Amino acid sequence: MVGAGPGDEGLITVLGLARLQRADVVIYDVLVNPRLVDQAPPSAYRIALPRRDDAQKLNQSDINHLMLNWARHGNLVVRLKGGDPYMFGRGGEEVAFLGHHGIECEVVPGITAGLAAPMAAGIPITRRDLASTVTFITGHEDPAKDQTAVDYEALAALIQRGGTICIYMGMNRLEAITQQLQHHEVEPDTPTAIVQWGFTPQQRSMRSTLVNVATEAEASNFNAPAIVVIGAVAAVKETGLDFFTKRSLFGQRIVITRTRIQASQLHSMLAQRGALVLEAPTIELVPPPEFSAIDEAISKISQFDWLVLTSVNGVEALARRLAHLKLDSRHLAPLRVAVIGDATESAMRNYLGIHPDLVSPNYVAESLAQSLIDREPLAGKSILMLRADIARPTLGQMLAGAGAQVTDLPIYMSRQPQSLPDDVLYALREGNVDWITFTSSSTVRNLVKMLGQQHTLLADVRTASIGPITSQTMRQFDLPITVEANPSNLQGLIAAVETSVR
Ligand code: SAH
Repeated sequence: MVGAGPGDEGLITVLGLARLQRADVVIYDVLVNPRLVDQAPPSAYRIALPRRDDAQKLNQSDINHLMLNWARHGNLVVRLKGGDPYMFGRGGEEVAFLGHHGIECEVVPGITAGLAAPMAAGIPITRRDLASTVTFITGHEDPAKDQTAVDYEALAALIQRGGTICIYMGMNRLEAITQQLQHHEVEPDTPTAIVQWGFTPQQRSMRSTLVNVATEAEASNFNAPAIVVIGAVAAVKETGLDFFTKRSLFGQRIVITRTRIQASQLHSMLAQRGALVLEAPTIELVPPPEFSAIDEAISKISQFDWLVLTSVNGVEALARRLAHLKLDSRHLAPLRVAVIGDATESAMRNYLGIHPDLVSPNYVAESLAQSLIDREPLAGKSILMLRADIARPTLGQMLAGAGAQVTDLPIYMSRQPQSLPDDVLYALREGNVDWITFTSSSTVRNLVKMLGQQHTLLADVRTASIGPITSQTMRQFDLPITVEANPSNLQGLIAAVETSVR
């Protein structure tokens, strides 16, 4: 049972992340950041639970049995919950259920929204001169419970003595809650704040008073997920405390167009600066049209000395092909295995249970070739490389140059997707995209092709080009260029957008 923290993927604990990275099965709620789920091993089975109010909703008992069934079959199940699992999250119920059925459980706490959301909105929930107590309450009572389970009279007394109240799930009952407190003589002008989507790029907050907050929140369309903060601290506004919204790209909605694999670096760099990033991969990976050469190599596997894999995708594709042929990793026993980078190494362990004999220190083909050459004389050795159809020939050439006999086969192909992902199209149609970045001429060409007749969707979107060559291609397609990177790299691209936003 792992607390994911609220909003930002970085708010999980080190312990929670370690468990997630070893999960066989991840069962997670809607409020959990999907980027966090990406941290589970590629082979892990991922189960997204529908919202509680969804048509296809699961009840608590369904969720309990789902966890139980996976755990009973010997899987490490990570139940990932937004914020802290025990804070209004039924984590306690779930753990007790599993414990009752003899499943060994571990619970990793999380940062709860009541701490993180006010903080990101510049509100310190305690302060020596203003507030010495904090109370977390739920504004959404379990309907089965007696309506008086939250003692508003006691809360009123705490607020009157300068206490802070943080309300979870309170947006639907905000009017009733604030009236109750006033009924118990809390001053109508008591500072009250709302923080929606706290600690995310979509964060919005408002400052008001107890008497006005419900009306103002409705007028400005504030709704769940939000934390309501009542008490003197809700009026605090000081430079420095507003760090979160002061980040250079806070709230900018940016579509990036690299391949999914290359996108992760740019994605992180933008997200760190507060941007909401959507990925529009302009390349996707598909199986090769036919497998005869690969199947032949697999059937004569003992003729090879080394198997070389250069990407997680390659490992995945090989594991799939072996399974298709009703083989498993034992079939690869005669080979030694060399891979590029630690991601490929752990994919090799996760998919095939194989510890590579050699892992190149750097993420380039040259580094892997050099490591192999330094390790042993390659003359007369036979090497099987399974890679992408567009992989550079350098690796094979270097190994052949050292006397090896190289069989280089594409085990997956990179292709242009037919259309943009739904979330990107939707955001473009709704006018919810501020920027689109282009990091090569091919990303421009592919995107224009994917949009087809819908290219008018780009009309109001600002564009960032990585450099003169990409800009030239953009001009060919009549795409206006808002900013161009200088120098022509990711840092330059981000700096250009920052300058324009400032
Ligand atoms: N276990 C969670 C809370 C689950 S109840 C935790 O510890 O944070 C769901 C409620 O949490 C929402 O209705 C909202 O009140 C609050 N919440 C969750 N994420 C939030 C966020 N990013 N910003 C503001 N409130 C959030």
